[in-house]
Amino acid sequence: MMKRVVVVSTGGTIASLPGPEGRNIAGALSGQALLGGVPEAADIRVEVRSLFQKASNALTLDDLQQLRAQCQSLIDSGDVDGIVVTHGTDTLEDTAYFLESSLRTRNVVVAVTGSQRVPHAPGTDAYLNLRHALRVAASADCVGLGVLVVFNETIHAAAFVRKTSSFQLNGFESPGFGCLGFIDDDAVLIYQQPRRQPLLQPPPGHLPAVELLSACLGAGPQALRALVDAGVSGIVLEGTGRGQVPPDWVPEIQRAVDAGCRVLVCSSSLTGPVLPCYEYSGSLHDLQAAGALGVSGLSGRKVRLRLMLALACLGQACDRDALRRLFSWGSDRSV
Ligand code: ASP
Repeated sequence: MMKRVVVVSTGGTIASLPGPEGRNIAGALSGQALLGGVPEAADIRVEVRSLFQKASNALTLDDLQQLRAQCQSLIDSGDVDGIVVTHGTDTLEDTAYFLESSLRTRNVVVAVTGSQRVPHAPGTDAYLNLRHALRVAASADCVGLGVLVVFNETIHAAAFVRKTSSFQLNGFESPGFGCLGFIDDDAVLIYQQPRRQPLLQPPPGHLPAVELLSACLGAGPQALRALVDAGVSGIVLEGTGRGQVPPDWVPEIQRAVDAGCRVLVCSSSLTGPVLPCYEYSGSLHDLQAAGALGVSGLSGRKVRLRLMLALACLGQACDRDALRRLFSWGSDRSV
């Protein structure tokens, strides 16, 4: 049976054209032009929506909301089997996880892809990645797996994938978790199913301000202080190891919590959970005593997006108990 897949293009290296001085202009190519380089598949009917033509560093949270709305309306139309989102690789994992957290996908497969090499480079991965993403989006075996990232013949869960190389074709991995499957020629091979987190469908409009700070040896509290003074709704601290920050961050964390700002602490380590197993100033135990909450299984970038969505959906009711539930992993997607 013929499958219907819609490609929503947003820009990135995969949609680049050569610039006048030998550099590349990411996002200059429209979705239609990009698709022109992929041979037609006999069993997939493809339509293109050119939503943005941006390098992915320039995408905004409002853009994410617009992309989400576009994808949700395609899904709710009941008229598509799959959606492919083409995207710059620099922030591809952010968008994929935002969609994973906020889209009610029903029986529609959503696959996000990009490329490390521009379409006009020798040995480009642009057309192969797009062709593979189309195959994944049309595959019945991928229904119910959540939003997927398709790259270098490999299929990843959006929650766990990270850009691990700035240039090699094997640009994405799921450190500590592994991929879900592969695309071998045109065959989609799935070996694992991911656990998922509760669905958070935000109202349209601006998302609450949540910022991310990374802890490191000798880092001063000034940046954190500035965020508290700016009155942001949430702060994610990428702690070292089990979730530690420099001791002189603690008074600022206390000040943030007292001002009603949600403070979450994750680990900057590539793998492994946080744990309040130490007792000293700046340890996760200390931060949790001040009102912060440790969360595991996600990079800081993804914790930030989930906290934004949680605040957008729950507002004042977004307390530590609610956040514990919303950051949990299981089969129940309902809030
Ligand atoms: N700078 C590009 C972007 O994210 C990188 C890429 O697409 O690979 O838009």
